[in-house]
Amino acid sequence: MSKDTRRYRRRVEAGQCVRCGTPFIGESIRRLCDTCRTVWSKWYKNRTPEQKANTLKASRKWRKKNPEKERAYCRRSAKKSRLMVLAHYGPVCTCCGETEMAFLTIDHIDGDGSAHRIRLFGSRTAAGKMFYDWIIREGFPTNLQILCWNCNCAKGYYGACPHKDPTVSHRVATMPEIP
Ligand SMILES: [Zn+2]
Ligand SMILES: [Zn+2]
Ligand SMILES: [Zn+2]
Repeated sequence: MSKDTRRYRRRVEAGQCVRCGTPFIGESIRRLCDTCRTVWSKWYKNRTPEQKANTLKASRKWRKKNPEKERAYCRRSAKKSRLMVLAHYGPVCTCCGETEMAFLTIDHIDGDGSAHRIRLFGSRTAAGKMFYDWIIREGFPTNLQILCWNCNCAKGYYGACPHKDPTVSHRVATMPEIP
């Protein structure tokens, strides 16, 4: 382990900015203090093509060496995107008022969800991070809403949720007439 890596780890553990060593007292622990973050993002934005290639190479090497950490980062960043989207639309089912986050999904109000996802990502089932990031990039389109799995599936399967359209319950519960 290099001297720099050791210092980096020591500062992470002590709750200090890894670049300048300023301790984070009474605030959330981060990797960089505000000053260093500004310096870093300026550097990051103005990298030469050679520096860009180098950071790409280094991050590829790191991902290969730390597959578990890489997966954890991906999960964390996917979760962050999902939470942002849910927070924006209000984390509650528009139809039945369900607030359990584990049940909440994104629904296309006009019902062209799968067609839309095929257009965007080339796959009907593509959801997850790519979709959440797209929503954030687009500034939270107004043709999306939050539905719980039940209401979303009922809408997809029966054309409407029985909470909103009682004829659905009737259709599901009764045998079709034989002409
Ligand atoms: Zn700093
Ligand atoms: Zn619902
Ligand atoms: Zn419903």
